[in-house]
Amino acid sequence: MDYSKAVDRLIARQLRDWDEAGRNYAALASASVRTLSLGESVIRLQYNPERRRSSAAAIDKKSLSRRRCFLCTEHQPARQKAILWGDHYKIQVNPYPIFSRHLTIADLRHVPQRLAGRVGDMLQLAAALPEFVVFYNGPQCGASAPDHAHFQAGAKGEMPLCDEILHATTRLLADGDEGFIGYVDALGRSLFTIETTTLRAAERYALRLLDLLPVPDGGEEPMVNVLCWWDRAERSWHMTIFPRRKHRPACYGEGEGRLLLSPASVDMGGLWAVPEEKDFESLTSSQVQALFDELCLSRDELAPVIGGYGQRWEYLGPL
Ligand SMILES: [Zn+2]
Repeated sequence: MDYSKAVDRLIARQLRDWDEAGRNYAALASASVRTLSLGESVIRLQYNPERRRSSAAAIDKKSLSRRRCFLCTEHQPARQKAILWGDHYKIQVNPYPIFSRHLTIADLRHVPQRLAGRVGDMLQLAAALPEFVVFYNGPQCGASAPDHAHFQAGAKGEMPLCDEILHATTRLLADGDEGFIGYVDALGRSLFTIETTTLRAAERYALRLLDLLPVPDGGEEPMVNVLCWWDRAERSWHMTIFPRRKHRPACYGEGEGRLLLSPASVDMGGLWAVPEEKDFESLTSSQVQALFDELCLSRDELAPVIGGYGQRWEYLGPL
């Protein structure tokens, strides 16, 4: 079911009735922007001081246990409304936007951020929100609420990578009647791309990949950022998975020589919300490339996954 009209109404009412959200969306509309070129890829920088709360969020266990979870309904302001989706999700307006239309889709329950058991939900959500790109930040990959499961969604057309991926040189890992999964390293960061005509095929490709990606010591899932969208005209699902090595860069922090950047899915998509003015003005293409190199798994590190995918696939049989 298409939730576009219900979401349009939710956004219009929240921007009218909720001062803080209205103010932040108006500020974003006039935010300064810059563009960097990264080979075949474009990076859009956006000066966005309100994102400091996300970029600088403390997500260690002690800090999390002390703070009131901002995704739990009982801690949210009375003015923050929701549309229920599926059996246990609520769609809400994100009051600190990076996109002209920015949603948070949280589980109704306070349960940890995990992708396991939710890949199908993510694909269905993308089809329910055809004007949005749905995204997932792993608990150690930019999520500012790693203790409360949630997706986000941003208006289509605002992350350059979603168009670039359609034309990028792709190494096929598996290809079938219902679509394919491939590996791309032509856009400055390693990523896997899935394009299928059925939800079932996209889910199977993604689960196989997640099964093969390394899980960090002490972690419960591979470190990933994920973008997912449904193309209404082509009736196809798209999913882009960025395997990560590291949560925050070594230069993370405030002050001279530091960058207050904690890259997540949206940054992987080529849209960088920069909360510090000095960082926004000084960031260069080579710094962005160095951050991608530091945070994302390289082609060499992913060789066992790239090589193993096809073998594993053959063993399991075609779709
Ligand atoms: Zn919560």
